[in-house]
Amino acid sequence: MHDALEAWLRLAAERIHVEAPALTSLDQAIGDGDHGINIDRGFTAIVAALDGQERSGAGAGSDQEPSDAEASALLLRTAGKTLISTVGGASGPLYGTAFLRAAAAVSSTDAGTNGAHAQAALVAALEAAAAGIAALGKAAPGEKTMLDALVPASEAARAALEGGGDLAAVTAAARDAAESGAAATIPMLARKGRASYLGERSVGHQDPGATSSALLLRALADVAAS
Ligand code: ADP
Ligand code: MG
Repeated sequence: MHDALEAWLRLAAERIHVEAPALTSLDQAIGDGDHGINIDRGFTAIVAALDGQERSGAGAGSDQEPSDAEASALLLRTAGKTLISTVGGASGPLYGTAFLRAAAAVSSTDAGTNGAHAQAALVAALEAAAAGIAALGKAAPGEKTMLDALVPASEAARAALEGGGDLAAVTAAARDAAESGAAATIPMLARKGRASYLGERSVGHQDPGATSSALLLRALADVAAS
């Protein structure tokens, strides 16, 4: 699972860089126009941190190789801490917390994170991530936030897992639900964050955070399918 997660973070960073102007223009409509800039900065810093760990050969040379679950959790923790320390907007602490919660969920998977256990670990991580954002943001689905993509995504992923889906099927289900969820924020009234200051004027625009969440899950599904 570790290698897939690392490939995901790197692909996500590339896609976010390309989509940053579009994310920022969504945030110009209902926020302060920095969402693309914020997460582009955060994911660029994640890639720099991963490159730094590779150069320093983290883990190499020690007698005991970390388990895949430990290595995956470390990767997610690095991503979370990097987002919290480099992104000033609301989305930095929210996504950062999501990654830290996902790391904790992955490190506590006793069954491991390889082979058929990977999709179970991933669903647990996605659920923990959504719960972490809900707790920190004091938010729930229906309030026009990233949770409108992430909660349906984690539910669809859980259903696909229980239906016997493999990693590709589970992540494809998460992607589809996140993309529908992001689109479903258009008619919603924003109740959290800066967009909520607009009241009724927030209606008719897609939420930037839900859009970036869907982008992240599309990248994950693409990595899982490759
Ligand atoms: P800021 O709002 O500080 O400028 P960003 O523009 O980077 O930060 O991120 C805005 C996104 O953060 C919103 O589109 C929304 O999805 C998400 N968001 C804001 N506040 C909350 C909250 N309380 N709970 C969950 N998500 C939130
Ligand atoms: Mg903003």
